[in-house]
Amino acid sequence: MGLLRASSLYRDENCFVNREIARQAEEAGNIPPKATEWTQRGTRIHEGDTETVDEEDARAYIIKKSYEIFDSYAQGAPFQVESERRLYLRRDGLIPYFTGKPDRFIVLPGRCVWVDFKPGFEQDWDGWRAQMDAYAALLSENINVELFTGVIITRFYGTREYVYTRDQCRDIMERIREIVAVYTSPELFSGLQATPGPWCRHCGGRLICSSAMTFPVQPQAIDTMPGGKVGAQVLQGLLRVRNLAEEKIAWYTERVTERPAFLDGIWRIGPGKMIGKISNADEASKALVQAGALTPVEVTDCTTLSAAKLRDKIAADRNIPKLAAKNILDTHLGELITYTTTAGSLVKTHEKQIETI
Ligand code: SF4
Repeated sequence: MGLLRASSLYRDENCFVNREIARQAEEAGNIPPKATEWTQRGTRIHEGDTETVDEEDARAYIIKKSYEIFDSYAQGAPFQVESERRLYLRRDGLIPYFTGKPDRFIVLPGRCVWVDFKPGFEQDWDGWRAQMDAYAALLSENINVELFTGVIITRFYGTREYVYTRDQCRDIMERIREIVAVYTSPELFSGLQATPGPWCRHCGGRLICSSAMTFPVQPQAIDTMPGGKVGAQVLQGLLRVRNLAEEKIAWYTERVTERPAFLDGIWRIGPGKMIGKISNADEASKALVQAGALTPVEVTDCTTLSAAKLRDKIAADRNIPKLAAKNILDTHLGELITYTTTAGSLVKTHEKQIETI
């Protein structure tokens, strides 16, 4: 097993089997792509290898912000910025068991200040907090000051500051040692199960992990999506993902249509939806009024409604089930209402399909 890292501490401490499942996924040739368009963007911004105006803006923003933070702590004193230095926690001062690379740090009298850049669109404060804990432990092991202040600088979600005393860093180190002990002791490790959560998002085993499917990952809240040029880029990426997903789902739909056992019967082609259509709104209105199903006032509202909306209105007004409302329409409209059925789509075999019009 490779060294545990600050960047994956959140996942490693919440799902102990993630590394084993990722290894199995790799063996099976089923690992998610290591780099995506968005992670590559992040790497370019981190390394100063920017390609677009958005990336240049993001880089300029986080660098400027980092100097503002360092200046505010240094208060005029000179400082030297350490960049991407790899740090280790070591057993007996020798054998490394944990590692991490804070983006930038400075050492001032009595205090170490570091920053971590998050220039992307994703927001993951819980995971980032665990990463900051890990950096605090790593820095305290390597730098002899009393206070450790870490600041996360995001491009879109503001900055957050975390302050640790040397004692708190020691507690985190102890926590990390306990986590490492589980990974390195067959006794502690045996019998542990996959534990899904937000940490699944970056797990190398997520494509084969059945537990992960039970946890709906919400990468970020809708009201925090960026606007402007960056928002336009995000939208473009989302549409590309949607097209890709639709293409693949269509492929599976075709396979299961041809051969229902293709997915071992776990998915099947559902019955499709019944779409009701009213051929003559005036005639239909008259028929419904005559039958007492609608009042003349309601008819005025309903002449422009679709069959489904008309059914919903009758159901809501009379407080009856939709199926009962559909029966009223069918009984009183006769040939004025006709139904077509759409092609069925993939449904889980055990899930009940609701008939709709
Ligand atoms: S996908 Fe989630 S639950 Fe499954 S192994 Fe990875 S971290 Fe654990």
